[in-house]
Amino acid sequence: MKTVRRVSGRIYMGTSKAYGIRNAVLVALFLLVGGTLANSYRNESASRDQNRVVDGAGSYAVRQQIVKIPVFSSLPTWLLNREAVSISRERNATVLKSVIEVFNPSLKSFLTSVPIVFDSSADTAKAYPTKCYIGVGPDWDNTVRQSRHRRIYEQRGMNSDDPVFMNRFKTDLLIHEFLHILQVYQGIDSRLCYEAVAQWYIDLRYGLPSPNGDIYASMTGNRKPDSLAINRIKYILWHDLYNYQRLSDVPQDESWKSMQYWERYRSAEKGVEEFAYIGQEMLSSGSSTDNYIKTGQWSDIDWQNKKLRLLEISPDIMAVFGGVFNPRIAK
Ligand SMILES: [Zn+2]
Repeated sequence: MKTVRRVSGRIYMGTSKAYGIRNAVLVALFLLVGGTLANSYRNESASRDQNRVVDGAGSYAVRQQIVKIPVFSSLPTWLLNREAVSISRERNATVLKSVIEVFNPSLKSFLTSVPIVFDSSADTAKAYPTKCYIGVGPDWDNTVRQSRHRRIYEQRGMNSDDPVFMNRFKTDLLIHEFLHILQVYQGIDSRLCYEAVAQWYIDLRYGLPSPNGDIYASMTGNRKPDSLAINRIKYILWHDLYNYQRLSDVPQDESWKSMQYWERYRSAEKGVEEFAYIGQEMLSSGSSTDNYIKTGQWSDIDWQNKKLRLLEISPDIMAVFGGVFNPRIAK
């Protein structure tokens, strides 16, 4: 309903005596398509994702764009947007190859076919799962470091002045956005994902949220921990979910790290971001290593670390992901 209200509000603003009748007709038309689009928008809004701090201007741009296109909704949005130009596949070939590698090889041709276009409403990147394309900010190849959300990345230890920033950044981001696309493509039920994640989060056998991943260093050979003292993915998930909703909503005390998943995370889109964040955390492991940054290729150690991440999640969550991951990780 927000869509309808904001669009008609805009029209009323422009109403003058001379154009009153014409605008009244337009309002009626917009109201007609608005109902249909509300559903469409709700689906797409699942992908606001990396624009974690959603401001009025940004979200309005999205609504406006979607409202303008309804008649041709059977065609990909990017084809109808003259400003939509695909990113350079050549310039991003290394990143794209590495990103697609972490998924099941059977998905390769599909993932390769997903358009990645410049999208002025995306600060960094966002997926449009039902329309099956990914939009990235116009500064994608140059100055993500100019993003007004750079402090979010810096809080995560990414130094945006570092030349390596872009490679790692693009890798993690594209994995996340492709997961959104794949969730819809594979028909994965968000609600099931949410339930599995919620059970896992409160299950002490999978450890407590912690920013420290050192437990891997002490694991050798067949030694498998009976219970994990720590769980980095739980930590990341909580942090990301709060960032997603609004950075300032992260409690200033440490209470957000405690085991209160059911009580404290309430969202209309349960399971959508959990799916993308957990998947991203497992699949992107290694993207900050010197080797990856230098060569743009995953090393054996990176693959091993991705696999070790499986220890942190439950089989129920793994089942939700189905055959999305490269078997090299999943088995
Ligand atoms: Zn997301």
